[in-house]
Amino acid sequence: MKDYYEILGVGRDATQDEIKKAFRNLARDTHPDANPDDPAAEARFREIAEAYEILSDPQRRAAFDRGEQFGAGDLFSNFGGLDDILQQFFGGGFGGGFGGVGRRGPQRGGDVGATVDLDLAEAAVGVSRKLEVTAPERCPACGASGAEPGHEPRRCPTCNGAGQVQVARQTMLGSMMTVTDCATCRGNGEIIDNPCKMCSGRGRIDSERSLTVEIPAGVDDGTRLRLSGRGGVGERGAPPGDLYVKVRIAPHPAFTRIGNDLHHKVELGIAEATLGKTIEVPLVDGTTTDVDIPAGTQSATVFRLGKQGMPRLQRRGRGDLLIEVDVQIPGDLSLEQEEALRHFAELRGEEPYEGKKRKRKRRSR
Ligand SMILES: [Zn+2]
Ligand SMILES: [Zn+2]
Repeated sequence: MKDYYEILGVGRDATQDEIKKAFRNLARDTHPDANPDDPAAEARFREIAEAYEILSDPQRRAAFDRGEQFGAGDLFSNFGGLDDILQQFFGGGFGGGFGGVGRRGPQRGGDVGATVDLDLAEAAVGVSRKLEVTAPERCPACGASGAEPGHEPRRCPTCNGAGQVQVARQTMLGSMMTVTDCATCRGNGEIIDNPCKMCSGRGRIDSERSLTVEIPAGVDDGTRLRLSGRGGVGERGAPPGDLYVKVRIAPHPAFTRIGNDLHHKVELGIAEATLGKTIEVPLVDGTTTDVDIPAGTQSATVFRLGKQGMPRLQRRGRGDLLIEVDVQIPGDLSLEQEEALRHFAELRGEEPYEGKKRKRKRRSR
């Protein structure tokens, strides 16, 4: 596991100011633009930015301190986060689109959203689902080049195909060589004299396609899954965007979900609660299990069945099943039942209303 404190060279008790300062110094030295001949600079810089991304956020820092790990997908989705940090520190001097340093090309494709509806049993085991999404695809006529078949895009003479031009810029850290989009080709590096008629030179067209997504076990209602690179293709062959799948889970008749625990309420009569009973409890996989409710169980007592709740999303283990007893006080006694209960009350020394009084009270309401 990476030690983000070590990467930034600060102590575990470092203040936000110290973290900020450490990042600023390291970022200036390792930024790829400052080390054009060092291919490892980008990886090193990314690591520093990742450490800063975690430690500068109190919630993420606390999670890291507890030993939680972060997947690359949690951070810098489409590098927007990283660009934001750079903007904050360097005033936009490094230009947009980090990750394509030195070669930009057309813009990355857009993100696409979809929704899947599951029931709780499916969410407990995970399912694979077929989705229909409408998203841009490579144009079949020009093969994403954007040029009418028989014609080729030509290299932009201004930037010589790089899509960017270098300029010297004054920043708070002194003079730095930075790059900006080429105005002639708008960052594409190519000029199309005869645009493809099918896609108007964009290299992509909207199309409907079906794809299969794997929904992992343990997803919750509202979980958003990011499928990297499964969104729309970019213009003229640029990398695709991401697919975001929102999960909706239908309410379950027997269970209420709280985190990874499932809650189930069971109604018992006063005799059952008093004398005890073996009850059949539903499980999320559709089977049942027997649970012994001991004699003398009070209403609102909760019994816990370990590991019968929902699996933890992308982790080991699962929640519990909590069974809450709800003792039902009867309000509809027959004459015979009332007599039996009055006899019981007498044996217990309880002093309920006399029969007439109860009836009069009910009538007056
Ligand atoms: Zn085309
Ligand atoms: Zn150009």
